Amino acid sequence: MDKTKKIVVASGNDHKIAEIADILTGYKIISMKDAGFDGEIEENGQSFKENALIKASTVSKALGVIALADDSGLCVDALGGAPGIFSARFSGEGDAGNRALLLKQLDGLEDRRAHFECAVCLYYPHGKMLFGIGRTYGRILTEERGENGFGYDSLFYSDDLKKSFAEASEDEKNTVSHRFRALKDLESKL
Ligand code: IMP
Repeated sequence: MDKTKKIVVASGNDHKIAEIADILTGYKIISMKDAGFDGEIEENGQSFKENALIKASTVSKALGVIALADDSGLCVDALGGAPGIFSARFSGEGDAGNRALLLKQLDGLEDRRAHFECAVCLYYPHGKMLFGIGRTYGRILTEERGENGFGYDSLFYSDDLKKSFAEASEDEKNTVSHRFRALKDLESKL
């Protein structure tokens, strides 16, 4: 890996930026804010991959840098893959509202299989692009378990960890997470 190369992360989330820096250790990882990008990006793609591409290419083209973006969400088998790319705005009422709506939609259903999916896109100023895809499998609990994490973590029982993501420590979750796997997939292509 070329350790002199900078990658600008198309996200305002410091936590994500730190996680990316931990995995792509050969690169200098910079937030888009620190790199001078303060525009709005409309995420109007039809897939995780398309949304990651929109975010990475927007920042790359605006600043003339290599940019990295991710997009992720929860896909529930019995709901035909929903909420998917609409995970953040599923209920329109934030994380707690999203979890309540998910429980309601799965009420009484036997099949509670689900996975988180993440797509990452690395976009170069001359137009080259690389993708990484990661998934982590589990099922949706019938009630919340655990206090850690965010989003759907307290409803997601991980097949790998044998507990909910909200019962896992951050380090435990990071070893099996969709984002970790997507970044590892990308790293293998660098
Ligand atoms: P983002 O693409 O990382 O911003 O995630 C979009 C939405 O998917 C979040 O707002 C959450 O609702 C959901 N999500 C993505 N990753 C996770 C996770 O690791 N745990 C819980 N919810 C997640």
